[in-house]
Amino acid sequence: MKLSFLGAAREVTGSCFLVETGQVRFLVDCGMIQGGREAPARNRKPFAFDPQSIDFVLLTHAHIDHSGLLPKLTRAGYKGPILATTATADLLQVMLPDSAHIQESEARRDGRRVRAARGRNTEPEPLYTLQDAQECLRQVWAVPYDEELVPRAGVRCRFRDAGHILGSAIIEVWVSEASGTTKLVFSGDLGHPGRPILRDPTPVRDADILVIESTYGDRAHKDHSASQTELIDIVERTLYRQRGNLIIPAFAVGRTQEIIYHLHRLTREGRLRGLRVFVDSPMATEATRITRQHVELFDDAARNLAAWHARGRDLPYLHFTESVEESMALNKVRAGAIIVSASGMCDAGRIRHHLRHNLPRRESSVLIAGFQAQGTLGRRLVDGAKRVRMFGEDIPVRAGIHTVGGLSAHADQPALLAWAAGFQQAPRQTFVVHGEARAAEGLAGRLGAMPGWNVTVPVPGMTVQWPENTEVLDHA
Ligand SMILES: [Zn+2]
Repeated sequence: MKLSFLGAAREVTGSCFLVETGQVRFLVDCGMIQGGREAPARNRKPFAFDPQSIDFVLLTHAHIDHSGLLPKLTRAGYKGPILATTATADLLQVMLPDSAHIQESEARRDGRRVRAARGRNTEPEPLYTLQDAQECLRQVWAVPYDEELVPRAGVRCRFRDAGHILGSAIIEVWVSEASGTTKLVFSGDLGHPGRPILRDPTPVRDADILVIESTYGDRAHKDHSASQTELIDIVERTLYRQRGNLIIPAFAVGRTQEIIYHLHRLTREGRLRGLRVFVDSPMATEATRITRQHVELFDDAARNLAAWHARGRDLPYLHFTESVEESMALNKVRAGAIIVSASGMCDAGRIRHHLRHNLPRRESSVLIAGFQAQGTLGRRLVDGAKRVRMFGEDIPVRAGIHTVGGLSAHADQPALLAWAAGFQQAPRQTFVVHGEARAAEGLAGRLGAMPGWNVTVPVPGMTVQWPENTEVLDHA
């Protein structure tokens, strides 16, 4: 069996792993690369494998950095099934068409640029179209958690709750060959234990090969209650004392629902009052609707809160904007609004308009609660930029920029180590992925110090062979 690390090796986005035996070839995730100038060109590169030779795809969760190149795979001729949990399948219904829409409008914008610069009349092909996305969605098979499935003779798999976003999964895969059966475990993205709404990541007891994420592999989040106190403090300072707005860039799926959850819970506990919350992202609105349809996946605290919410007393004012006009009207609001908008890393979407209007204002604040990849506007803000470039303008940053790490959707280093400690025996080989080099090496160092653990941080494109040896076969 061969395992290739085609994406998310020493970086956070573009998750894609290829498993091959003489009989079967499959992918785990087929994600888009996000952040940085080279991302669009890298996403356009042909796949490192023949898409038509793939038998099936296993998808850990709906985030675009895990699912975003699936329509490209379909466009390139892939016809097989894409296995995902039911909630992931629901989320894909809105996320893949949305992503296609972004691809189409970027292609049109690039076309206009080429025309303006060279007078040539070319319309660059989008990475994929809405039609590709819709075709791709027909290939999605919704599967339950915790049941053994046989996507193809010789392969069994099982999706376990990863507690990261709605529908997220750790995937266990058993691959049988003449030489025996090998069990692979792909952690996907792991949630931080005790996070709102979702259950904690499911412990896994055994694996021959473990592929584990490391987004926060070198860091510990501040504890949850400290993060909440910080959130309350930022809300009070910005809205009540400074009379500005609080802007929260948030992934439409996951983060937005958590922020809404926190604001409701803190209101219920009497720790915040009189909030006016605007969710300004059509995708986030859809994702919130889907989340409310999957109460069966909630943890107990979230079910309690949902029941309180249903009684409908003393709720914060919560408005989901719909039209562009409604979104633009928010630009005129000078004070007292909490605006939750996407994209989470501030690279696209309506959030940019809210930042443009509020970054220059000392009274306003920006709350960064999610991971910001290198090369994104969000990262520049976190790193303390005094001026940023947006819409062809130089925008001064006078608003307070607050990072609240303890609300993260990803497990921190202690939580990753605790999950890894759930293995009754060390996996025979562990690969640390989905983290920038420092984070991946930080986690690898700690895992490698555990008795019996054999840990590697793969380089991009690396292929390893199992069980004969685990040497590098080639680099892309
Ligand atoms: Zn994710």
